[in-house]
Amino acid sequence: MFVDSHCHLSFPELRERLPEIRATMAQAAVDRALCICTTIEEFPLVHGLATAYDNFWCTVGVHPDNEGVHEPTADELIERCALPRVVAIGETGLDYYRLNGRSVAEMAWQRERFRVHIHAARASGLPLVVHTRSASDDTLRILREEGAARGVFHCFTETLAVAAAALELGFYISFSGILTFRNAVELQAVAAMVPLDRCLIETDSPYLAPVPHRGRTNQPGWVPHVAAKLAQIKGIDVAEVARATSENFEALFSAVGQAASDDERVL
Ligand SMILES: [Zn+2]
Ligand SMILES: [Zn+2]
Repeated sequence: MFVDSHCHLSFPELRERLPEIRATMAQAAVDRALCICTTIEEFPLVHGLATAYDNFWCTVGVHPDNEGVHEPTADELIERCALPRVVAIGETGLDYYRLNGRSVAEMAWQRERFRVHIHAARASGLPLVVHTRSASDDTLRILREEGAARGVFHCFTETLAVAAAALELGFYISFSGILTFRNAVELQAVAAMVPLDRCLIETDSPYLAPVPHRGRTNQPGWVPHVAAKLAQIKGIDVAEVARATSENFEALFSAVGQAASDDERVL
């Protein structure tokens, strides 16, 4: 069984095809998925998915790229963390890729937003889902300054040095379909280095469909292609990758197990 640790099923292109997408997941032995929040406005949709299906969970947070949306306080994030099936804060982080003519100094609002999210994660005891693009130095610096110690660098595309620093901080590294791209040689070297007990797999669907579906609308049922590539890189069986990444998912997002153990207590 595989887990997709990062997908955007609330986006219209996936939400409108949910029955078919869930059928593909079942056929591909993808038994769980984490639905990622990118704005507070979107939160009711992702939370709705997580409460409607017993194999979906969700996060709460505002993606660094989103502007002109509600800017939550730490308390507003913490409040939503207390809801059932909310298992992480994010996706949050820094993205200096599209500065639209601004300087990095002018992106102070993004860094402030990131600090608020880290504060909420520490206060609620939930892990962080970190997005970082063209901003790894500041991302690592702020995580250190704010004392963040639990989370994942999602859709990892950074260097070996950044991966080593993230591991040192106690974070997991999540690989997406990019790992299967022929030109992703540097990322494949990162995947060879990251210990299996710190690896997660994801689709980041609807984006970044893995080979052999590259260029199409991605979906959680295609995460086994990422697992297969990771297995090939590490020279191990795909079943071992499936087992390890599922265990890592449970260890990091420990709240996914809570509903089950509550049921057991009732029994
Ligand atoms: Zn992201
Ligand atoms: Zn994402």
